[in-house]
Amino acid sequence: MDYQTILEDIHHNLTARKDKGKVALYIPELAKVNIDNFGIYLNLINGENYAVGDYNKLFSIQSTSKIFALAKAFSIAGNDLWKRLDVEPSGNPFNHLSLLEQENGIPRNPLINSGAIVISDLLLSNLKNPKKDFLNYIRDLANDDSINYNEEVAKSEKKTGFRNYAAANLLKSFSNLENNVEDVLDFYFYQCSLEMSCAQLAKAVHFFGNHGVCSQGKKHLSSSQIKRINAIMLTCGFYDEAGEFAFEVGLPGKSGVGGGIIALLPNDFTIATWSPGLNAKGNSLLGMHALEQFTTKTKRSIF
Ligand code: GLN
Repeated sequence: MDYQTILEDIHHNLTARKDKGKVALYIPELAKVNIDNFGIYLNLINGENYAVGDYNKLFSIQSTSKIFALAKAFSIAGNDLWKRLDVEPSGNPFNHLSLLEQENGIPRNPLINSGAIVISDLLLSNLKNPKKDFLNYIRDLANDDSINYNEEVAKSEKKTGFRNYAAANLLKSFSNLENNVEDVLDFYFYQCSLEMSCAQLAKAVHFFGNHGVCSQGKKHLSSSQIKRINAIMLTCGFYDEAGEFAFEVGLPGKSGVGGGIIALLPNDFTIATWSPGLNAKGNSLLGMHALEQFTTKTKRSIF
């Protein structure tokens, strides 16, 4: 299969589009990003790589960090994790609150904000140096020590993260947070502020496509745990657009409001796209189209 030509065709087709969506405005630092950035990076499980466009530029991975935090928490807590979180799609935006109140402080899943805040709390209780250890985990997965947090982005979000404060306070009121609201959110905002390129992201998620074994051959999670996380990505990775992503693309995946998306086909490939313009549901507009075209042209999806 001529992957390079396929990626270049997709990039070319979509760059010509006038409507590129809108960059996220509610986090002031993200509003400054140039909407014309667009990159794609394909990492085959056999080690081959193909790429096009701005695949080496760093961007804010935002909610894409939730899959790494989930993987780390699952490796620490095992199935006890599911006492504090459910695994059902929410059918609601990432920062939705009322379900949390109705369901007694048990977030619908770990990939919406309230769920990721519970995961942050668990990591805060279990990691010696939470920020440093989490960063090292990501660096290890991507085999790249240059990866870092962006403190400006973390601070920017702290100032305007009113809905995350609301979610964390609700969780605390239902006794589903062990640590202080302020400490948990500080760690959560740092995770969201991680800056990575499409190339680094596609490599870091390699282990989700390879039964828990990263590109350096280290086993991070069992096959059964990876199967479960991939199932959660398929059903919950795109909030109230998870059905649409499964319908159009047919892969487990995860988006972030920085405009990044990762997706994967177990035993076959991982892929990362970045285009900062978002659609109305907060997912990258061109990224969704690029992945739809990729699975259609290559005829490769879990279905
Ligand atoms: N940091 C963002 C928030 O908490 C992440 C949201 C996202 O990427 N969907 O609102």
